[in-house]
Amino acid sequence: MDPAVAIAPCPVDPCKNYKARTDTACCAAAGIDRGDAGGIVCCDGRKVICVWKHNYAGITGKAAQLVHDCIYEHEAVHLPETINCTIGQRCTTELKRGGVIWWDTYGSECRAYKREVRCLQRARNKCGDDTFCRSNIRIFLEQAADQRDAYCKWVFFS
Ligand SMILES: [Zn+2]
Repeated sequence: MDPAVAIAPCPVDPCKNYKARTDTACCAAAGIDRGDAGGIVCCDGRKVICVWKHNYAGITGKAAQLVHDCIYEHEAVHLPETINCTIGQRCTTELKRGGVIWWDTYGSECRAYKREVRCLQRARNKCGDDTFCRSNIRIFLEQAADQRDAYCKWVFFS
């Protein structure tokens, strides 16, 4: 028998001692936000929705949580429409930004901003007579509506 084969060690599972990161750890990784308020991260072989509050830090009080939830809803539309993380890479500290499928970027953003606008409209009502909250929400609502119109005008089937 070939001696090299005879003394070959048992295969070791490379993932045996690897502990997958939490969503919080995945989203907090340096530079992964690229200045965006929200995004999808491919982390340890799975897709994670991130909302980066420090990128809309001007907003405080009741509106902050409402905006957070609407950014999350926007990203939730993208989640099934982003490219899968590499299967089998779960223990190799894989970390990168997820991308929407290239041939449907406008469609995906159109759908995501439509959802975000509806969410922000509901959020504005949830402010009640808190005028500071309403004015904060209005800024995001106007931006999201502009983005929706810019993307959706190129989308004929959505
Ligand atoms: Zn988007």
